[in-house]
Amino acid sequence: MTDAREIAKLPTDAPPGGWPKPRALYLHVPFCRHRCGYCNFSVLAGRDDLQDRFLNAVEIELRRIRSEHYGDDRIELETLYLGGGTPTQLTLPRLQRLLGCLSEHVTLSSDYEMTCEANPEDVNPETLAVLSDAGVNRLSLGVQSFHNEKLETLQRSHRGEEAVAAIQLASDSIKNISIDLIFAVPGETLAQWQDDLSTALSLPIRHVSTYSLTYEKGTQFWSQRRRGGLTPIDEDTDIKMYRWSRKLLGEAGFEHYEISSFAKPRSRSRHNAVYWNGHGWFAVGPSAARFVDGQRDVNHRSPTTYIKRMIEQGEATAECERISLDQHAREIAAFGIRQIDGIDLSEIDRRVGYEFSALIRPTLDSFEKSGILRRRDNHVRLTARGLLFADTVESEILG
Ligand code: SF4
Repeated sequence: MTDAREIAKLPTDAPPGGWPKPRALYLHVPFCRHRCGYCNFSVLAGRDDLQDRFLNAVEIELRRIRSEHYGDDRIELETLYLGGGTPTQLTLPRLQRLLGCLSEHVTLSSDYEMTCEANPEDVNPETLAVLSDAGVNRLSLGVQSFHNEKLETLQRSHRGEEAVAAIQLASDSIKNISIDLIFAVPGETLAQWQDDLSTALSLPIRHVSTYSLTYEKGTQFWSQRRRGGLTPIDEDTDIKMYRWSRKLLGEAGFEHYEISSFAKPRSRSRHNAVYWNGHGWFAVGPSAARFVDGQRDVNHRSPTTYIKRMIEQGEATAECERISLDQHAREIAAFGIRQIDGIDLSEIDRRVGYEFSALIRPTLDSFEKSGILRRRDNHVRLTARGLLFADTVESEILG
């Protein structure tokens, strides 16, 4: 029997055209009012006194990326994403300082996408003016729900009516408004979730990301659930909620283009597509992971350690991983399959320069037999049923 690896002629170093040149940058701003019970991100709650030192650290990291990759020129980007944490938890002068620092070190392409995450309670005319003057053309609002009871369970700081007002106000200055919504929250009914979706659809938004509540180890919700203080929604209702998201958003003209993402025409997240398609990206801030020249480096997860190391040593990398070509190909396939359009195996073979598709054929064949994947020639995508098994497919492809 022929070994699949013989067929594939697995090479060992860089892809034929070299590693993808990053044209995207993620910047993690860790500040939040408080830590929500389900949140597992790198967050500094109630430590706004560290904002100036954080900005000093960010400036050092941006300068370093620029001098390492661009010399005297500025960093050239097509997409820039300010996430967190909560970027708008920075005071207005500090938000201006951050945006000014970015404009000093970055040049954006003519058709750029610049996203800023914000919480509804931070949306006001002054902040919106600062963001839009700096070129932010996409606002991602952490709405999560319009139901006050559900928002309280999630320990969010805003109320439903505040979220509605924030979306309406923001859409006057930033046309592409995206909102995050969480479903399967303890005590939530299918009718409440349908109501959340209907309210969202009555508002001027162009993008929705929907997530089923997860109980990550180390979060308050995880401990509460273990002690019996939180009862997760049953799996059937969780699945029904997901299906209703697809139905209602689809009927309203939102294209389901990735497991959790829905967009009006020409409003897909280009920045997230960089991750899903395995293109390179820079990343700045605590816990930020970059993928540059075949290397994945992750900054220290603790914001205070990140700030200290960056200021004192000029770098704050906690983990480095050299990505082999085989791993790169697997990641392109595994994360790419999360997109509803699926993946083109011949395109992956072309990008990595060997017959990777021969290596994963047995895995894909078995998922196809179970009705989880559909394959036409070299094109593979999840079926409607397969969308519920995306995590399993992903981990099998990653090997
Ligand atoms: S606002 Fe967002 S980032 Fe901040 S603690 Fe809550 S979930 Fe986490």
